[in-house]
Amino acid sequence: MFKTCFSFTLFILTFAFGRAQSDGPLDIRMDFESYDPPSTLVVPENPVSAARYPFVDVHSHHWNMAKMDLAPLIREMDSMNMAININLSGRGGQALLDMMENIRQQGYEDRLLLFTNIEIRSIDESDWVENTLKQLEFDVANGARGLKIYKSQGMFHRDSQDQRIPLNHPKLDAVWHKCGELGIPVLIHAADPKPFWQPLDSLNERWLELKLRPGRKRNDQDPAPWETIISEQHDIMRRHQGTTFINAHFGWFANDLGRLGTLLDEMPNMMVEFGAVIAELGRQPRFARAFFEKYQDRILFGKDAYNPDEFPTYFRVLESADEYFPYYKRYHAFWKMYGLDLPDSVLRKIYFENAARIIPGIDQSLFTR
Ligand SMILES: [Zn+2]
Repeated sequence: MFKTCFSFTLFILTFAFGRAQSDGPLDIRMDFESYDPPSTLVVPENPVSAARYPFVDVHSHHWNMAKMDLAPLIREMDSMNMAININLSGRGGQALLDMMENIRQQGYEDRLLLFTNIEIRSIDESDWVENTLKQLEFDVANGARGLKIYKSQGMFHRDSQDQRIPLNHPKLDAVWHKCGELGIPVLIHAADPKPFWQPLDSLNERWLELKLRPGRKRNDQDPAPWETIISEQHDIMRRHQGTTFINAHFGWFANDLGRLGTLLDEMPNMMVEFGAVIAELGRQPRFARAFFEKYQDRILFGKDAYNPDEFPTYFRVLESADEYFPYYKRYHAFWKMYGLDLPDSVLRKIYFENAARIIPGIDQSLFTR
């Protein structure tokens, strides 16, 4: 018995040792982009094709709204339970009037809202402030529900001396103040994800995005350090407490919710929306859920790019308790995501209650249908 057992062990050891010698790692390499195996994990899956409650998308862009047949857009919105779409590209002046006119003619003025925009490149001209304030008054009188500031404005727009115009430029103070007076929120997209400013190497989480979209790479001179642009917008939020600001894309702090919480505590007039950063939330479901519970009155639903196929991923992250499911753009997220399983009371706030509180003239009956 002992002998048999000993021989058997020897056989196993010889086999294992022999194998180890001849079965070293294969000399094959695969690049990061091609390695994307389908998951073998089998867990309950609960895809969500329409939001549990009617919702307001506070960050959308439709460039051709003055001419579009709007019925197909409304049908798509209905299919995902989107009650209101806010087109931030209202442009202002006559262009805004033309869009409003088309929306009214087709009978969707309660479903499709417009934010206006301003031009800042001519900020040095002596009548710039007066004209811009006049335009804002005109736009709001004609239906604009807010002002959108594009990232290009705080990053690349330059004055007559070829200097970058920072968002905390003294002449812009009159604009932020006026928006407060008019009772409209200002949605600001400032800067871009911080890794765009960091070295493009194996330590950069946005390596793939910067490889595919090299024009997004920034540095401290092009156009300025990330921290500078981020702090310029915080500066105006701190100094204009009578104006409500919506910090787009979670202010690029979705990957540092502790820091974002500190900023929200400091600035009671700042709201945030999570367009394009849902994958950041989906990789930290417990911390993110605690954040949503704590700041449930400060968060809005925003998506940015209007691609109907992408909305279900947002709903699933917010509503489900699903595990290890994919995001749709590998260059934003090479990781899988987990649902936050938010309580209904919190979902209702981020889907519409918070938007209805800060954006003027929202038809509340849309949310009880
Ligand atoms: Zn946008």
